[in-house]
Amino acid sequence: MSKTQEIIEAGQQFVMNTYGRNPIALVEGNGVLVWDAEGKKYLDFVAGIAVNALGHCHPAVVEAVEEQAKTLMHCSNLYWNEPQVNLAKFLVKNTCCDKAFFCNSGAEANEGAIKLARKYAKLNSGADKYEIISALESFHGRTLAAITATGQLNYQKGFEPLPEGFKHVVFNDLKALEEAISPNTCAIMLESIQAEGGINIATAEYLQGVKELCEKHDLLLIMDEVQTGIGRTGKFMGYQHYDIEPDIITLAKALGGGFPIGAMLAKAHVAVAFQPGDHASTFGGNPLACAAALATMETMINRNVLENVVEVGEYFMGKLQALGEKYATITEIRGRGLIIGVDVTVEVAEVMTKCREAGLLIVRAGANTLRFIPPLNITTGHVDQAVAILDQVLTEMGGQ
Ligand SMILES: *Cc1c(COP(=O)(O)O)cnc(C)c1O
Repeated sequence: MSKTQEIIEAGQQFVMNTYGRNPIALVEGNGVLVWDAEGKKYLDFVAGIAVNALGHCHPAVVEAVEEQAKTLMHCSNLYWNEPQVNLAKFLVKNTCCDKAFFCNSGAEANEGAIKLARKYAKLNSGADKYEIISALESFHGRTLAAITATGQLNYQKGFEPLPEGFKHVVFNDLKALEEAISPNTCAIMLESIQAEGGINIATAEYLQGVKELCEKHDLLLIMDEVQTGIGRTGKFMGYQHYDIEPDIITLAKALGGGFPIGAMLAKAHVAVAFQPGDHASTFGGNPLACAAALATMETMINRNVLENVVEVGEYFMGKLQALGEKYATITEIRGRGLIIGVDVTVEVAEVMTKCREAGLLIVRAGANTLRFIPPLNITTGHVDQAVAILDQVLTEMGGQ
């Protein structure tokens, strides 16, 4: 039996069956490359689902984790720790928000945002202002409140009763949103690009209109930047393409460069709604996670990673558009920076499998979209290699 079969069989026996997994086991990574248990090498354009912003095992992140692990890993929030304070300061300086709360995942960040929005509204507008409006096809995570905010029934089915106070509207439809606002509404929660939902990009007209509605009706704007944040789109935050300021921002995925950490940021007047005892997370903002995140942020700045995202993202988009000209099976390409979706008429699962067999890891978004979310420090050479594999696979699948 191969090492891979051994791992998979034990996994099927002992690990809960919640994921449709690829039949490979990854054992090592370096930059944009990963190796499986059989020694096969892959170009990783999934990056742990938009997590490994600097690729696998970036030396700056590895060193920071090593150093901090030897010094102080965890101490709880009963005490201050400097890495947490430094990370909060960095996030505040680089966004429109004034305060940070740390947690461990995107869902947990969104839970915090939902609680903060409700608390703020209760304190400022009364007990019946609690409702949150989010978009259809959105994705906000897997806790009960987060699946309820998520505008896709398939994530909610079987888990009822769901928490009250959530409503969904069609994305990019300002009129639908305006009509959904009621005296009970306290916040609007949106992604600037619906990532899991299919790489649906918010128009400037829409997000700016949403911000105006928030001001008019005294609502908080929560931007879920869990996937679009931390440089993915070529700016530090996805909302920064829109000339708007959200009141609350949620982060996770790429924040720790591969180390698990989430954050919820808020404007000062909103953040004060949380007082000691209102919200907490035992692991949240521990020195180890924050050291990993700080090293990731510092490297992104020092190595001009945002500029790289813009440059390589444009190059990638151009290459994919050329493929789009060549294959009738490609129907649309959407993206910004290094989050790109390619709609195909052929079976998405089959494209992914064939790409994997040819040495390229990609993931899907929505129903028929291939999603490309590589490390943010990749080169045009990596893009050439990935596009060559996709080209070959689409030819095999009879796409001309
Ligand atoms: C991945 C994701 C989440 C959930 O993050 P977890 O860390 O898996 O809980 C929430 N919102 C968006 C936009 C995401 O992409």
